[in-house]
Amino acid sequence: MLFDNIKRIYTRISHAAMRAGRSPDAIRLIAVTKGVGPEKIVEAVENGLRDFGESRIQAAQKKINDSDMQAGHERLRWHLIGHLQKNKSRAAVGLFDLIHSVDSLELAVLMNRYAEEAGKIQEILIQVKLSDEESKYGIPEEKLPGVLKELSGLRNLRAAGLMTIPPFFEDPERARPYFRHLREIRDNYNKTGFKWKELSMGMSNDFEVAVEEGSTMVRVGTAIFGERKAEVL
Ligand SMILES: *Cc1c(COP(=O)(O)O)cnc(C)c1O
Repeated sequence: MLFDNIKRIYTRISHAAMRAGRSPDAIRLIAVTKGVGPEKIVEAVENGLRDFGESRIQAAQKKINDSDMQAGHERLRWHLIGHLQKNKSRAAVGLFDLIHSVDSLELAVLMNRYAEEAGKIQEILIQVKLSDEESKYGIPEEKLPGVLKELSGLRNLRAAGLMTIPPFFEDPERARPYFRHLREIRDNYNKTGFKWKELSMGMSNDFEVAVEEGSTMVRVGTAIFGERKAEVL
């Protein structure tokens, strides 16, 4: 079942990429494993997946150790995709290859300090808030210039691009303007000297639209592993 789901998603990513004149190789599938145990993760590894996303540090810690161990010699890449509390930032820097959810300068400053202590350059994405929803984290577009100026002095962080979570719509077409907007923000900053490659956008319900709009990382949980229990964030 996992095999069929993954194959189907890759096909849909390829078709969406081709519709937009992009190479399917430019899009990385990140399997979101919240609520999913190590056995399933290892099964996903056996089906070719290497990138996994978690939204909570506590749940991720044990899972990452267990899955890495069980996956044997395969090197798995772990992505933090959920909001990070400041008091968990040290643990996050130790655990994750890429942190998608950098949503405040304070958090970045802390992460930089812990990365320096660990002798690590931490790869990050900057989460941008493009909707007015109270419940969504991220840096509003108008605050980006100020944050970026400070960020450039943080030598142990390397920003590889941007991430966003649009509001949920039944009809994925309604998410398109958000995805397009994030791409435009990236492209405009790149014209001024930034070298952001990545756009982390698109989930089970809307990843094809996100790919058409330039996503380089889609974060897909339900479409791979099935519905999760409602309380798992
Ligand atoms: C849960 C989650 C996903 C995956 O959601 P699905 O709808 O299950 O694909 C992607 N991104 C973030 C930030 C999430 O919290």
